[in-house]
Amino acid sequence: MARIDVNHIRHSYLPNPKKDSDFALKEVHHIFEDGGAYALLGPSGCGKTTLLNIISGLLHPSHGKLLFNGRDVTRLSTQERNIAQVFQFPVIYDTMTVYDNLAFPLRNRRVPEADVDRKVRETLDMIDLASMANRKARRLTADQKQKISLGRGLVRSDVNAILFDEPLTVIDPHMKWVLRSQLKQLHRRFGYTMVYVTHDQTEALTFADRVVVMYDGEIVQIGTPAELFERPRHTFVGYFIGSPGMNVLPVALDGRTAMLGAQRIELPGAPKAEAGSVELGIRPEYVRLGREGMAVSINKVEDVGRHKVVRASLEGREIAAVIGEDDEVPAEPKVRFDPAGINIYADSWRVEMGA
Ligand code: ADP
Ligand code: MG
Repeated sequence: MARIDVNHIRHSYLPNPKKDSDFALKEVHHIFEDGGAYALLGPSGCGKTTLLNIISGLLHPSHGKLLFNGRDVTRLSTQERNIAQVFQFPVIYDTMTVYDNLAFPLRNRRVPEADVDRKVRETLDMIDLASMANRKARRLTADQKQKISLGRGLVRSDVNAILFDEPLTVIDPHMKWVLRSQLKQLHRRFGYTMVYVTHDQTEALTFADRVVVMYDGEIVQIGTPAELFERPRHTFVGYFIGSPGMNVLPVALDGRTAMLGAQRIELPGAPKAEAGSVELGIRPEYVRLGREGMAVSINKVEDVGRHKVVRASLEGREIAAVIGEDDEVPAEPKVRFDPAGINIYADSWRVEMGA
């Protein structure tokens, strides 16, 4: 397996890119450590597939370098890079049996037939298709085909990395969950370097040790699920992760106080930002609804099972608060912000809090 160093990569699909917005990847610089399980998370169009294809060699970057264990592979082909990639849509041989589809990448590498058989059977069990081994692939359903595609990515154990591009999109929710935990087990057992692309936060947070969040052609934050939740570096991460996302409110700073309209909000420290207009971010889980604090009017209460989401107006802005499933909204509702959950942002980027 390899440590993958994505070194100041920029990529444009245009022949003569000029401005920043001509680039699908603006400036991506990140090291995927050997044996790490990474999720690449971001909305559609943010550049996830472009980055994955650059790592695998299907695409050559306009600028920058790619190193595997310190060796420059930027100009090498996909085969020479020795990477397994699973795509969003099945890539299989329709006329071959399920068994032969999985055996193909191994035979191609001249793996002895006894080892081929062992690996193929192991993989068939994992993707739950052992009973279909001798069936022609074209006779399978769409989600079975996708499982073969997944199996083809997992069958080799000598690869530098395994890349997954939204591989479970067409798979039903229960099987999705099963396959995802299989992938995790496989990672624990063999220590593969894995990069898993998804636009689904649940998928990213359950699969990865480290989540790489992309937005508009850039990496905006890399962290554990807890770090992304507690300390979003960019307001986008706050919106995108968590349900509902982080509340973002325009405030004026004055030392350790933020003014939201006429309301004074005490901060956990003095933000290292120039006094003036910035934004305050607070997750709904840290907004305390009760009889003390700033007066709000309630717009809506959504019962989402284990808790309720309250939508309220505060100083003309809608904010969300989370309360327990048995909690009631008081007659004259007020909110307080738990200082532990307050982050301050300037130009969308989080600023440090001083003492
Ligand atoms: P994601 O996988 O996150 O949805 P992509 O990497 O597919 O994003 O796309 C990033 C940007 O590059 C998008 O604006 C998309 O329209 C553009 N793009 C992707 N593939 C091509 C292509 N083959 N030709 C031109 N533009 C492309
Ligand atoms: Mg994509």
